[in-house]
Amino acid sequence: MALTKLDQLYRAVILDHSQSPRRRGELDKATTQIELKNPTCGDVIQVQLALENNTITDVRFDGSGCTISMASASMMTDAILNKTVEEALALSEQFSQVVLGNETEKKRELGDAMMLSGVSKFPARIKCATLSWKALEKALADGGTGVDNQLTHE
Ligand code: ZN
Repeated sequence: MALTKLDQLYRAVILDHSQSPRRRGELDKATTQIELKNPTCGDVIQVQLALENNTITDVRFDGSGCTISMASASMMTDAILNKTVEEALALSEQFSQVVLGNETEKKRELGDAMMLSGVSKFPARIKCATLSWKALEKALADGGTGVDNQLTHE
């Protein structure tokens, strides 16, 4: 089963994010943090956000899990940095469509995260890909005040 050139590119980008994750670690000035688990795979992700004037001015993630979950979290931080809450939630919606295999007009706004579109062929891995985005959505609930400095387990 040969991989197409596009599959190879996507695979290389995913591996790069999992091996050299962007913005992994702790945020000093986090206004919101949240932890989510994906019991089907064992992935655990913490997402920390610094929100100022309705804009995500900084973001970090940490956790442990499979290649897809870690790469997706890294890609997510690239996509949402310096976005408003509304823009970040719109990106999250785009991403959930992409991993279901649906074409969207704005998927390029996701940057590297759109390279996880191949996950749609592996339904068991969709939750791995969306875990960090679900954490983002929960962290942004109620304008980022609803889970202020609380760790929430699910
Ligand atoms: Zn996983």
